Amino acid sequence: MLVTQNITEIRQARWADPASTWGLVPTMGALHAGHISLAERAVAENDKSCATIFVNPTQFAPTDDLDKYPRTLERDLEMLEQAGINMVFTPTPAVMYPDGFGTRVLVDGVTDRLEGEHRPGHFDGVTQVVSKLFNIVQPTRAYFGQKDAQQTVVLKKLVRDLNFNLDLIVCPTVREPDGLAMSSRNRYLSAEERQHATVLYQSLSQAAEMIENGERDAENIRQMIADKVKSTPHAELIYSSVASNLDLSELETISGNILISLAVLVGDTRLIDNFMIDGIEPM
Ligand code: AMP
Repeated sequence: MLVTQNITEIRQARWADPASTWGLVPTMGALHAGHISLAERAVAENDKSCATIFVNPTQFAPTDDLDKYPRTLERDLEMLEQAGINMVFTPTPAVMYPDGFGTRVLVDGVTDRLEGEHRPGHFDGVTQVVSKLFNIVQPTRAYFGQKDAQQTVVLKKLVRDLNFNLDLIVCPTVREPDGLAMSSRNRYLSAEERQHATVLYQSLSQAAEMIENGERDAENIRQMIADKVKSTPHAELIYSSVASNLDLSELETISGNILISLAVLVGDTRLIDNFMIDGIEPM
């Protein structure tokens, strides 16, 4: 497995056999089974696959956890090699943003709600770094997790609007046995917070059950989620949303394909999760 910070080496390896298809799995490292599910899918569907590990400073706000973001490079590389990844791009910030760098990539509309509303500038950093990774690796397919649902909506728009020549593949959320979505940030949780962190999955499950049983008023779902989080120790709701999964606009009446999502502060740790439900019939 080639591991390099060097863009020229990545390009040379990528184009050594131009007929090969390539999968790309962008990550910020501190890998877990969720990341590895993306890597395994890329390996299964392409001749060769590249993972990237880069904690991208431009998608963090000054108040975010950039400095304390977990870094476990050696273990990450072992896990990627085990998954069958062929090369890993591990650039430094100076490689990605050398002196004089000054180009931004801004996606309109779907970036200004949910995560975008609460983390201004976050998606501008994401679209900037992902555009660079797409251009550096030029993959046939790129793999992203449903865990970051809004990111997949934003990146699909980016690929379409800027004609990136690749297929964007969205992979299901991998969860702990009690339902908590795997996340590099889960390791910040104390034992007690970890127990209460299941409130995200439990709220989403209850929302799905209410819809299954005929609930079509989106506000009732948002309120149920807010109440459930409020009654959970160490948990503070940042937002609860029932939105169209196309443009992420909030719904009044539930129908069609929807995204139920929430962000919760558990202790000092910001967690997000979502369920996508398709084909809901009017009652
Ligand atoms: P990150 O390192 O957090 O930037 O995540 C890298 C990629 O892994 C993103 O496409 C995430 O959506 C995806 N990912 C993170 N957690 C999970 C999970 N629990 N299940 C599936 N994919 C995930």
